[in-house]
Amino acid sequence: MRPDGCVPWPIAIDGPAASGKSSLGMALAERFGFLFLDTGLMYRAVTLAALEAGVPPEDEAAGAFARALDIRAEAGAETRILVDGKDVTGRLREPEVEHHVSAYSALPSVRAAMVAAQRAIAARGPAILAGRDIGTVVLPDAPVKLFLEASPEARAARRSLQARQWGLAQEAAEARRDIEQRDRLDSSRAASPLRPAEDAVVIDTTDLSLEDVIRYALELLGCN
Ligand code: C5P
Repeated sequence: MRPDGCVPWPIAIDGPAASGKSSLGMALAERFGFLFLDTGLMYRAVTLAALEAGVPPEDEAAGAFARALDIRAEAGAETRILVDGKDVTGRLREPEVEHHVSAYSALPSVRAAMVAAQRAIAARGPAILAGRDIGTVVLPDAPVKLFLEASPEARAARRSLQARQWGLAQEAAEARRDIEQRDRLDSSRAASPLRPAEDAVVIDTTDLSLEDVIRYALELLGCN
């Protein structure tokens, strides 16, 4: 941390699936004592609840459903998501959610509900938000914007490792198919497509360890 403790905030971290946004965000949040909000988990929670309620990925129906949903994001050192008071965080990486989340996330009405909730959380105090549209839409005035990239091979290998830690067996080939499919949908949608903000610093993490990425981000922040 800077000697005066004035790390600029909020910090926006965007990038494609499994590019290391959450690992970096959690590490920086821990170091600075900031809140960390993984916004992908919010879209995943809407998807899980909509699938369970049989609400199709159509703008009007899913938007009304998302607005009425009692979804609470507990942004701390890590993000936990409560739907109707129940912690559903452990279910948000299930294949069913993974396969449908991009369809629900593409709906403008669902995005509007999520963006409002995310801005309210970011307004509470020093925060780091990770997602796809944080630097472009949610927090366009953020003083720090990072955009992480990595090759599909590197991301699939990392996701397959993570999946094991989450208790989900997933081979790298299958992980790669899933993340490439989501990247395609997330980049080509009309509403807030995945892309770096014009003023974002783009970091290719393909050949970097998490420690390297953290060190680089700290240098950018003037904090090492
Ligand atoms: O970050 P994660 O991979 O968990 O995000 C899951 C999905 O949620 C993404 O594939 C994307 O469709 C959606 N998402 C989004 N905007 C964000 C964060 C996630 O559309 N800010």
